[in-house]
Amino acid sequence: MKKLLILRRCEPIVRFSCCSVRYGECRRNHAASTGGYAIDGCREFIAEGEEGTGGALKCAACGCHRSFHRRIQVYEVSWDYASDTSSTE
Ligand SMILES: [Zn+2]
Ligand SMILES: [Zn+2]
Repeated sequence: MKKLLILRRCEPIVRFSCCSVRYGECRRNHAASTGGYAIDGCREFIAEGEEGTGGALKCAACGCHRSFHRRIQVYEVSWDYASDTSSTE
């Protein structure tokens, strides 16, 4: 009797859902007026106020506008295993 071997395909389906945005280090040159170069060393934008208010665009750590901070697009990755659930036992 022949033995039938069934290989089940179990390939992950990777989903990228973009659209979460974070803001990294501040790149505002505080010495631009004097021709020099000095950044404030702020590592990450933290909103001073609630979303929808003026404070949401201002950094609580260094006081600069959000646009001075490096924009980071965060991709959320989720795996989905397309395994068939039919019993083979
Ligand atoms: Zn700053
Ligand atoms: Zn900052």
